[in-house]
Amino acid sequence: MRHIFDIDFYNHINMTIDQYNFNGKKAIVRVDFNVPLDENGHITDDTRIRGALPTLKKILADGGSLIIMSHMGKPKGKVNPKMSLAQIKDTVAKYLGTEVEFAADCADAAAQAAALKPGQVLLLENLRFHPEEEGKPVGIDKEDPAYDAAKKEMKEKQKEFAKTLASYADVYVNDAFGTAHRRHASTAVIADYFDADSKMLGYLMEKEVNAVDNILSNINRPFTAIMGGSKVSTKIGIIENLMDKVDNLILCGGMTYTFAKALGGNVGKSICEMDKLDLALDIIKKAKEKGVNLVLGTDCVAADDFSNDANTMVTSCMDIPEGWEGMDAGPETRKSFANAIKDAKTILWNGPAGVFEFDNFTAGSRAIADAIVEATANGAFSLVGGGDSVACVNKFGLADKVSYVSTGGGALLEAIEGKVLPGIAAIRG
Ligand code: AMP
Repeated sequence: MRHIFDIDFYNHINMTIDQYNFNGKKAIVRVDFNVPLDENGHITDDTRIRGALPTLKKILADGGSLIIMSHMGKPKGKVNPKMSLAQIKDTVAKYLGTEVEFAADCADAAAQAAALKPGQVLLLENLRFHPEEEGKPVGIDKEDPAYDAAKKEMKEKQKEFAKTLASYADVYVNDAFGTAHRRHASTAVIADYFDADSKMLGYLMEKEVNAVDNILSNINRPFTAIMGGSKVSTKIGIIENLMDKVDNLILCGGMTYTFAKALGGNVGKSICEMDKLDLALDIIKKAKEKGVNLVLGTDCVAADDFSNDANTMVTSCMDIPEGWEGMDAGPETRKSFANAIKDAKTILWNGPAGVFEFDNFTAGSRAIADAIVEATANGAFSLVGGGDSVACVNKFGLADKVSYVSTGGGALLEAIEGKVLPGIAAIRG
């Protein structure tokens, strides 16, 4: 199967941001400014804003004007002041070193966009205040017989909405990898209103594409993938896809106990998907057939309560007493994980090895992160992606010691699963 991230495919993209001269042009840029805010509306982590700066600064430095658009949160098609992008305007202005104008309705900003002069910046209000952005009909159940008609009508409205956004600018740049797996008005539909030479990926998006490409096409061996998190069911697509590529596959976190149960173990009250036991056995069988070294937890740190202060014990994953649950990888498991990682030359990590939000259950994730850092120092290419594993490397202060930390959660997993991302396909034209 030809993959969207093949170098071959990538070379077919008509225009790159480096080639384009924005002088005298108005550029509309889709960014991911969905930053976390505290209860007073102050930004608690501005990584996403900083991530988009190279693209935004290049446009201004060329002598272009900027129209910035993003979503924030899930306002479900309604105006919600708690998710207003007005709250981040000053931070954007600070980083760009220039004033930023604000359009209180992203669908009614034509006059403000028209008035922009080179070097000036307009930030549009949250795209998702309009249901057309996501293109899903609101207030109607999927089971309702009228749903299909409502969806069709909404798709037409979505095109109109995208056309309005497109009308503000001469050129469209998509720098929002986090939403590239969605066919939304601002991430994909809008691209239809620009010709091939007037739409392109931003720098952040290019970096993400290259990082995924490294994982999928430039594999130096051994290749170790570490999949953690809570459930097998949400990761099965990527696990099956990776089985054809990796030498070592570490499955950790909550899914450990579905495997242990499937193998006849007692898992106490650990998180366990009883309807996925056959699937777990099937994964074990496939790994054997394909010669993949499947590494599962053997011992765990179990707790008598789902809390940081719970009583703990180290026990076999196959023999967790009633009333106890596996919360983290045990010492023997941590060693076997580290062994499968430290000599690898290509590494992908998605999902923590334990309930890392509680400080007493971070050891498994920490052991993984340390081994990745060691392998990276020895020349491996390491990609860490997906919200929680990124939160892990940030918590351990190790983000700059791995090769690449992806901003994409769902988008990254879908890309690695081999799915075409609408946000990238739309630019390709
Ligand atoms: P996911 O969103 O599927 O990547 O899962 C991430 C979540 O998995 C994190 O919030 C972790 O706390 C959770 N997790 C990891 N290990 C366990 C475990 N042993 N029991 C329950 N939750 C876990």
